[in-house]
Amino acid sequence: MTAVDLLILGGTIVTARPDGLQIADGALAIRGAVIEALGPRAALEGRFAAARTLHADGQILFPGLVDTHTHLYQTLLKGLGDDLPLMEWLDACTLPSIPHLTMRMCYVAAALGCIESLRSGCTTLFDYTVDHPDTSVYDATLKAFDDVGIQGVLGRGLRDRQAPNVRFEFPPLEAQLVDCARLVDTYGAQRVWLAPGSTWAMEADGLRAVRRMATERGMRISLHTDEVLFDSQESLRRFGLRTVPFLDSIDFLGPDVLHAHCVKLSEADCHILARRRGAVSYNPVSNMYLGSGVPPIPRLLDLGVTVGLGADGAASNNSQDMLEALKIGALLPKVAARDPAIFTAGDALRLATSGGAAALGRDDFGTLEVGKRADLFIFDPRYAKSIPVHDPISTLVYSSGQPNVRTTVVGGKVVLDDRRIVGVDEDAILREAQTLAEQLAELAGTRARLEGRWEQKRSRSEVLD
Ligand SMILES: [Zn+2]
Repeated sequence: MTAVDLLILGGTIVTARPDGLQIADGALAIRGAVIEALGPRAALEGRFAAARTLHADGQILFPGLVDTHTHLYQTLLKGLGDDLPLMEWLDACTLPSIPHLTMRMCYVAAALGCIESLRSGCTTLFDYTVDHPDTSVYDATLKAFDDVGIQGVLGRGLRDRQAPNVRFEFPPLEAQLVDCARLVDTYGAQRVWLAPGSTWAMEADGLRAVRRMATERGMRISLHTDEVLFDSQESLRRFGLRTVPFLDSIDFLGPDVLHAHCVKLSEADCHILARRRGAVSYNPVSNMYLGSGVPPIPRLLDLGVTVGLGADGAASNNSQDMLEALKIGALLPKVAARDPAIFTAGDALRLATSGGAAALGRDDFGTLEVGKRADLFIFDPRYAKSIPVHDPISTLVYSSGQPNVRTTVVGGKVVLDDRRIVGVDEDAILREAQTLAEQLAELAGTRARLEGRWEQKRSRSEVLD
């Protein structure tokens, strides 16, 4: 008998491997953070002495979902920016809030978002944490990842340009990069990335400095790329080139750069990203919520670009629900192309698992295979929304919700245990999040802005059209 830490017996294992292997009445053994064995239950049962055994008869095991773009502080802003296009939403909702964020707010907001992530089957997320003068907010966010038990990657926000709608002071870029060095020395390059906001939030020299540091320190980069027309218009005005060709011209692009959104890419931009082997985060709920548009995801995939799926921040979603992102992400390309075959449930699951892992530069999770990290969730299909099950992947993508997610395992640890969050007091986090969100809205004046939103919306829509 081989000693293992966790043994899951019974249920259908959806491996999400490229060959589509599914194992009926399976078993999966975990030692430490890694999958030790998986296969038919009859072949595995009796071979392992497990510290704990979970019974999954009638359930489905999926690899954990990967959220490649979010902003966890925005969980405190749900509902404050409804019905506004991006630039005006920034004005009304997020930018006024940033200077008032405290370390505690960032911790509670991150914990709240991580709890919802685990409840929607998400085991890894990339959090684009705002550029903030109080650098302790980054440590607080990383602590929230660890306390809740999710695998969190922190994109340390960077800014070195007063964009039209930014009305707060920020330290010089050199000082921000010094803090990035502190963070990467403390937490490692797998957990800390460089995250310049967008080309319109940065000077060309600032982007070059970020690129240099990434190369020297082995860090990865993420930025918002062509989310709305404004991005490429500003890039053309300031640099004489659209966003992607400009980034190409300063040798910023590479396989270590993750581009969020990419809604407004041209065909030529798609080819440049493919040539530079860049990665893209597809954030369908946010793109619909803000009315930004539909990114050319099937085209990017055809060209071989790595694509992951993201929820984006809860101020433009308004949740962190990766199951919702799966369904909406599968549907949006169909309506854009008026072709239901252009993007399938299997495509959506692939983006949300191995695609997301690849977008984060990782190949040690994203499928259920021996030797991979034990990141997975146990899905209970016995709900009216989900029954009958003919195809587990179709059920997950089109007929599921958070109640289906019964148990979530991250790096071999059970962090959602039969629907109970293990690492933190969930009720206490929910109560504190409500209180802090009300305080933040009061300090930032975001409720007052909300009341005047309709007139603003009309004026901005005219500009964008
Ligand atoms: Zn974003």
